[in-house]
Amino acid sequence: MVRPPGRPNPGSALDMPILPTPFRGGPQPENEMLDRVTKPPLTIRLCQPRGFCAGVDRAIQIVVLALKKYGAPVYVRHEIVHNRYVVEGLQTLGAVFIEELSEIPPQHRECPVVFSAHGVPKSVPADAEARNLFYLDATCPLVSKVHKQAMRHQRLGRHVLLIGHAGHPEVIGTMGQLPEGAVTLIESDADVRNFEPADPAALGFVTQTTLSVEDTAGLIRALREKFPLIHASAAESICYATTNRQEAVKETAAGADLFLVVGAPNSSNSMRLVEVAERAGARMSLLVQRASEIPWDRIGKISTLGLSAGASAPEIIVDEIVNAFRARFDVTVELAITATETEEFPVMRVLRDVELTKADMAFVNG
Ligand code: SF4
Repeated sequence: MVRPPGRPNPGSALDMPILPTPFRGGPQPENEMLDRVTKPPLTIRLCQPRGFCAGVDRAIQIVVLALKKYGAPVYVRHEIVHNRYVVEGLQTLGAVFIEELSEIPPQHRECPVVFSAHGVPKSVPADAEARNLFYLDATCPLVSKVHKQAMRHQRLGRHVLLIGHAGHPEVIGTMGQLPEGAVTLIESDADVRNFEPADPAALGFVTQTTLSVEDTAGLIRALREKFPLIHASAAESICYATTNRQEAVKETAAGADLFLVVGAPNSSNSMRLVEVAERAGARMSLLVQRASEIPWDRIGKISTLGLSAGASAPEIIVDEIVNAFRARFDVTVELAITATETEEFPVMRVLRDVELTKADMAFVNG
C-alpha cells in the first residue's frame, strides 16, 4: 500500500518514507508549469529495490573486464543475463554470443569464453577443458550455492527434488550437477501428486532462485504433507534479490491503474513480478523491454503507475520508461523503498587487476 509522501505506516515492510522526486515545492520552471496545464497528472510509484542484482552485475562486469584485459572477441555461452539490451551492448563492445562451445572457431581457442550467470551443467566446464579452452565461470554465487545444496543431498543418499521451470537454463544447470536420474523436477501440484519415490524417507529438495515466493511456499507445503521426512536445504534457495523485488512490488501495486515491469519475457524473475503485481491488486500489469513497447492505446486514462524492473533489466531502461511517461503526463515520482541491498559479489581473481570504471558500465547504468 503506498501512502502519501512523508507518512510511512509503522509496522509495514514499507516503513521508510516514500520520497517524491523531484521536489515540487517553490517556483516551477516555466515549461513545468506549462506541463501541468497541458498534461494529465501521473504519480509513478517507483519500487526500490529494482533492477540489477549482485549476480547480474558481476556477470556483466566479468564480460566487460575480460574484454578490457584480453581484447575482443570474448565468447559468451548463452545470453549472459536474460536481457537483449545488455546482450547487444556487450556485442557492441566485442562479445560474441554462442549456445555451444563447438561454435568457437579453432583460430579463437585462445580467446576467453564466459559461462552465463544462470550456471551450467558440469558437462560444460568438462567440455571446455577437453577442448583446451580458457573459460571464466560467471555463475552467480547464489546459484552455485544451490548446486552445492543439491550435491549435498545426493551425498547423503537422498533423491533430489528441484522446484523450478523446465527448460530454464538455471534448472538445466542445477540438474546437470548430478548424474542422470538423481534429480526430479517439480513444477506443479500435479507433479507432487504424481511423484512416487523409491524411498520417501530419503528425499531432499532445492529450488530455482528466481521463483514466486508464494507459489514455491505452496509447493513446499504440498511436498512436506506428502513426504513428512523430506529434507530442506540448509539455506533458502530463492535468492535475496528475487524476494526483495517481489516484496517491493507487493507493497506498491495495490490500487495502481497500471504496473509496468521492465524485463524480458525469458527472464523468470521479471515474469514473476508481473504476476505478483496482478495478485497484489494492480488494475493492469505488463512486461515491457523498452519504452517503445508501452501499449499507449491499451493503457487509457491512468493516474497511478507502479514501476519496477527485473534483476536483469538495466536502470537506463527504467529512466527511458519514466521519460516516456513524462512526455505525456505531468509526472511525480514517489520512491517506494522496502529494503536496502548492500550485496556485492567480487569477480574472479584473474580479472581483479583490471580497473572497472563508471564509464565501462555506462551502457547499462547510464
Ligand atoms: S537473481 Fe539472485 S540468483 Fe539470480 S543472478 Fe541475481 S542474485 Fe544471483
